[in-house]
Order: sequence, then structure tokens, then C-alpha cells
Amino acid sequence: MVEGTFARSTATQLEQAPPTSARRCYDILKVSPTASSEEILKAWRKQVASLLIPLAIGIGDLDALEVINMAYEVLSDPQRRLRYDEGEEPRDLYDYTYGDGAVGGHSIPRRHRRTRDIVRDLSLPLEDFYLGRPSAISITRDVICTECHGAGGEDSTIQPCSACKTEGTTVTVRDRQRVHLICRVCSGAGLLPIMRKQCPKCKGNKVIPTSVVLRVRVEKGMKNPKRFTFCGEGNQSPGVNTGDVVVIVEHDPHPIFERLDDDLYMTVEIDLLTSLVGGTIAIRHLDNRVLSFALAGGEVTKSGVLKIIRNKGMPKHRNTGFGDLFVRFLVKFPVDIDDRSVQLLKDALGSTKLSSTIEEGDQIEEVALTEPDGVQEVPECNHQ
Ligand SMILES: [Zn+2]
Ligand SMILES: [Zn+2]
Repeated sequence: MVEGTFARSTATQLEQAPPTSARRCYDILKVSPTASSEEILKAWRKQVASLLIPLAIGIGDLDALEVINMAYEVLSDPQRRLRYDEGEEPRDLYDYTYGDGAVGGHSIPRRHRRTRDIVRDLSLPLEDFYLGRPSAISITRDVICTECHGAGGEDSTIQPCSACKTEGTTVTVRDRQRVHLICRVCSGAGLLPIMRKQCPKCKGNKVIPTSVVLRVRVEKGMKNPKRFTFCGEGNQSPGVNTGDVVVIVEHDPHPIFERLDDDLYMTVEIDLLTSLVGGTIAIRHLDNRVLSFALAGGEVTKSGVLKIIRNKGMPKHRNTGFGDLFVRFLVKFPVDIDDRSVQLLKDALGSTKLSSTIEEGDQIEEVALTEPDGVQEVPECNHQ
């Protein structure tokens, strides 16, 4: 195949050429570095035309077309061409991810064309990260049709691309200049291959969306979030390598515990009596076990105070140790107190004190406290 030879020679050219010194984009299109934009467009059309027939009947080299298209994309954009001439290397020529049949896609370092990775999020309870637990996620991926083996049908023919009306480009204005952009539908070919006899199974789509279940194993104390990569399990597409599936496992916010690396934080509400005289507190941990500890009598636990229960946090990943459990106490005050208790409290705690010192001879005005709700803002006084 002539096109195969072309693709190989292009690949060799790319690997051998040092990135900054060679004018690879010009070499690929076989134009001089001083070529006008019209000359570049003409040269690109000529290069594409040489690949058209094999492409149309499904034996063409898409890699070769892509390299030509990428060189054109650099040189047809006046700004990009200027930066390229000044030595900026177009990353696309090295790193290229093939996705959904479109030219472009986000760049991640790859030597070869491959389908874009499928990325999915999976939210699991914090308990799974504490105990370690297997999980599964169902995804839909494209699988090459087993009936036509990715051909889409039989008896291939070509039809004009309606998106660009066989021009191979669509015109846009950039920096007040008309720029010919490569048609996204036909990748610049101007023609699209169609099958006279469409595959009944995939209806000419070449691939069939298929549901698969992927198993992930969350290990004890695994960090959050955790990426699981399933190599080559992404969407299949004829003629290109299969990308990966990336499952990002993260734990949901927990109603009681907050995780910070290997440590856990929680708030425990205690009543006023416990805060004053102590008592026994029980808390339920992530594995359902109950932890009990005593607040010593004779020592007041203030609201907001933080205590540590050592080694009762998260298990350390692939380690026998544990983080710590931080407990913040919140004192719940009673809503009201009966007269009898008031007297008992006064006896126990001593008489109440006024918060401000009063000196003899001070004029005292007694005022009333009200609830802030419904208080109207007093308008500002306008007169001088
Ligand atoms: Zn098929
Ligand atoms: Zn087109």
C-alpha cells in the first residue's frame, strides 16, 4: 500500500527531526517557510488529495492524514504560525489523543493515536475506606462490532461531505483574516466513505455501545480520592488503540466523622451537667463498635474543647497503624431551669455577679432585654 509507506516515512521523519531546528510543518506540506497562506492551503489540499481514494474505500492511512492536518492547523493560523516560526513547538504533533473521530482532542503524552479515556466518578461511604470493601461500577463503552469487525458494512463508496461541500475546509475570520479551518466532519477529505450494504448489527456505526461492570477494591485507609485505571478498557474504535477507563473513587461526606488523611474528627454534644461533673460518653465508630470513655468528675469540660483519642482514627493504608480520633465537645445548655434548681445552683456555684463594676454614687437605669427577632432598624436622623 502506497499510503502505508507514506505513513511510515512520515513517522520516521517525525522521530528523527529535532523538535526546534527542523521546519517539520513546512516539510510535511512540502512548502517553503516563506509560503503565503494561499500556497499553504493549496499544498495541504494537494497532500490530502493524494490520500483520498484509499481513505474513501477504508484502506487509507488516517495517521498520515492527521499529520498533514496538524501541520496545516499550525501554519494556517497566523498567530500559531508566527509562534511556530519563533521556535514554539506544537505539542499536537507529538501528543495526540484521538476521540470521537474528530481532529483535535485534549493532549496527553501519547506516541500513538488512541481513543479518549473514559473517566467516571464513584462515590462510596467513608465506612468502605475504613473497612476496605470491594465495589463495582457499570459503564458503557464502544466495542467493535463482531459482525462487520469494525468495517460498518460492505461495498464501500464515497459521497460528498455535506458539512464543507467537498471543500475540506470551513471558513472563519480570525484576527480580521479569513482562515480556512479543517472540516471536522470529514477531517479535510471533503468526502465521506459510506457503505452500500450497511452492517445490520451496528447499523454502520462500526461499534456497539456495550455495558460492562468494572470492579474496584477499596483498601483499608486508602487515600481520598483514589484513581483506578483500567488499561485498554475504554472505547474501541477501528484502526486506533483503545484508551483507558479511569474510575475516581471518593468518599461521601460522613454525617458524624470528618477525615483528614489518617485522622478523624467528630463533635460530641454533652449536657451541662456532664460538662460540670463528668460522666461516661459512648460513641459509635465506623465499624459499628462502640467506644466508651469517661469525662473525669471535678474537671469542667468547656464547650469547644478538643481532645484526642489516640490510634482510633483511620487505619493507615497498607500499614498496621491507625491515625487519631479528635473529639470536639459541645455543651448543650438547658432551655429553662425551675426555681428549685435555681436555688440549688446558687448554693453550689455561689451568687451571681454583675458583669460591670458599679461604684457608689453611680446612676443606675434598669432596662429590659428583648429578642432580636422583629426588631426594626431605626432610620437615620436627617436633620442637622
Ligand atoms: Zn457491524
Ligand atoms: Zn467536510
